[in-house]
Amino acid sequence: MDPRVEQFMSQIIAKNPAEEEFHQAVQEVAESLVPFVEENPKYKHAKILERIAEPERVILFRVPWLDDKGEVQINKGYRIEMNSAIGPYKGGLRFHPTVSLGILKFLAYEQVFKNSLTTLPMGGGKGGSNFDPKGKSDNEVMRFCQSFMTELFRHIGPNTDIPAGDIGVGGREIGFLFGQYKRLRNEFTGVLTGKGIEWGGSLIRPEATGYGTVYFAEEMLKTRGQSLKGKIITISGSGNVAQFATEKATELGARVVTLSDSSGYIYDPNGIDSDKLAFVMELKDIKRGRIKEYAEKYGVEYFEGQRPWGVKCDIALPCATQNEINEENAKTLVNNNCFCISEGANMPSTPEAIEVYLENKILYGPGKAANAGGVAVSGLEMTQNSMRLLWTRQEVDKKLKQIMINIHETCVKYGKEKDGTINYVNGANIGGFVKVADAMLAQGVV
Ligand code: NDP
Repeated sequence: MDPRVEQFMSQIIAKNPAEEEFHQAVQEVAESLVPFVEENPKYKHAKILERIAEPERVILFRVPWLDDKGEVQINKGYRIEMNSAIGPYKGGLRFHPTVSLGILKFLAYEQVFKNSLTTLPMGGGKGGSNFDPKGKSDNEVMRFCQSFMTELFRHIGPNTDIPAGDIGVGGREIGFLFGQYKRLRNEFTGVLTGKGIEWGGSLIRPEATGYGTVYFAEEMLKTRGQSLKGKIITISGSGNVAQFATEKATELGARVVTLSDSSGYIYDPNGIDSDKLAFVMELKDIKRGRIKEYAEKYGVEYFEGQRPWGVKCDIALPCATQNEINEENAKTLVNNNCFCISEGANMPSTPEAIEVYLENKILYGPGKAANAGGVAVSGLEMTQNSMRLLWTRQEVDKKLKQIMINIHETCVKYGKEKDGTINYVNGANIGGFVKVADAMLAQGVV
């Protein structure tokens, strides 16, 4: 490791002990930015890199609620308000038993760069709870969401902090959260994104992250004169991002052969067409079942407890969770001639896996660029809320696609190597940094 990065990281680790995922996210950025900051001393003197790694505010709270048996349950609630240099805090809420301060800080940190890359005026934040919606009744989820918002409402607002969904927070949860916010504030405002279309949501928001990840892959493929047509794709996850990545990739002529959940993956060599995808959406979003039932329904193989990276493919779209591709998985992907990875999930590849991609010069779109479509359309939802109007599907999709093209261009601008290849890691990190850093310089030591 570059000794300057090592020195920077030793301070971060000392200040934020036992937050491994946060260290990992900061280090990945530092490897691109420490040399860049050395060449641009104005950022160095103002300690921008150090300041960006310290949240502006961290809110921690108790979330008590009553389960269906009348028993009291207690969860932890969090909101990390990371950076507001270029706009109000913006980022999702995650409800999952693994949620911790370190995980949310990594997500909030990445969000700052991602939101800047979209070109929209949004700062970075993230929040959530260690609550697990799996196995809970709708009433339990509602009572939990109401209790969560009863504390969170005093910290957020349409010009302050605008949460959205993430793992475990979909349309149902956003509805319960919005209802409680409205009741407490007596205001109908765009305080959350991912809202239902009848009450202030944007068309294409549910699709945006998955579609955007595929649009980004398409742009990367164009740099090698290729397209998605006829390509075999492996996807992990079967939630919001995975579903709409499957839909768009299939529409553009690719064949998606895997989906997964935290129990295992299915392999359908004939491809997951629109009818099969409709089954997955019903299974996951309404029945809240397991992906194994796909294998039973369509008579395909199911691999319990495994991830889909051993399946031969041209393109891989990790769309489940952090650190789901390790070094060995990355080597298997490359040995099987996979030459393009576009990350729908946040930080799904370990640092060792990223090394493998970069050494082999495959097309690698890191999450902060490749999955920025979700927050971009959240930004467009905020615009529509402020203007009190609703754009058509075509209008929003066109804007989303253009934003993904622009993000790709930014990555090319800042990530082009001497041999002509594009290092999208450097491109996304430096491209996302400059705007935030310049805004911080202009606003003084705050
Ligand atoms: P969902 O809750 O809709 O789906 C998550 C999927 O990932 C489920 O299939 C889930 O399986 C699986 N999963 C979750 N945790 C694990 C785990 N530890 N191991 C294996 N599989 C797991 O979430 P989203 O689709 O919204 O989010 C997926 C990823 O995309 C996350 O990394 C998120 O941060 C990122 N992202 C999401 C955005 C959005 O707009 N929603 C925007 C940008 C990034 P199971 O059902 O078994 O839990």
